[in-house]
Amino acid sequence: MLRQLRHLSNAVHGMEPGTRSEPITVSGRDEIATLAHAFNRMSDDLTDQYQALQSSNATIARQAQTLEKLSYTDELTGLYNRRYFNEQFDHWFGECRREGRQLALIIIDVDHFKRINDNFSHQTGDAVLQQIARLLRECVRSHDILARFGGEELILLMPDTSLEKAEEIAERMRRHIEEHSWHQIAVGLQVTASFGLTSLQTTQHDMLRIADEQLYRAKDGGRNSVCVA
Ligand code: GH3
Ligand code: MG
Ligand code: MG
Repeated sequence: MLRQLRHLSNAVHGMEPGTRSEPITVSGRDEIATLAHAFNRMSDDLTDQYQALQSSNATIARQAQTLEKLSYTDELTGLYNRRYFNEQFDHWFGECRREGRQLALIIIDVDHFKRINDNFSHQTGDAVLQQIARLLRECVRSHDILARFGGEELILLMPDTSLEKAEEIAERMRRHIEEHSWHQIAVGLQVTASFGLTSLQTTQHDMLRIADEQLYRAKDGGRNSVCVA
């Protein structure tokens, strides 16, 4: 009886979360045997519950990750959304001002986008925005923040980038859009975009205002161009 009790006690001490312990071999029909049966059942139940908990924890972690990604992503283009851009703009503006680093800002607006919607369809317009996002992504570095600012307007924040370098990148983007085979989306479709650029200013508001002014200069000058201040 003492041996059986010790056997049971060792099994209790040897229990480890998540691992199925060896069932205790039960002989006889006395109280110790009943206890051993109960222990085996409990140990099995615990292992099953532990594994179910582990799997639901993994599901929750995956869902949290998806939710986090959704919270900063624009649904149509897969680019960052405006909220995330604003957060990053606050961060980089402060950092670059404090540390005397460079910061370039580019506002990008699709030319005559309303005509694309009207002459083709709203779906074609959506497909154009998705393709533009892909084309622009090919031109930016991993630490640049490319976001959909609203409608057919995108915005690009480039930390540690001179205005000259940003202009070179904007010009590459402009050409990349102009030279893309848009007929793959719709026969007769042609797309261009205009770009307004600025560098670090005294306030974030000034940066947005100046980049916007440059964008409108590009529009006034005939579109499909890059303007810098
Ligand atoms: P401009 O060259 O001066 O920029 O002219 P525009 O036609 O591009 O500019 P406007 O502001 O007149 O029109 C923008 C249009 O973009 C109007 C709006 O219906 C359309 N638009 C905004 N968001 C979306 C979208 O998510 N999908 C589609 N298909 N159209 C959109
Ligand atoms: Mg436009
Ligand atoms: Mg616009």
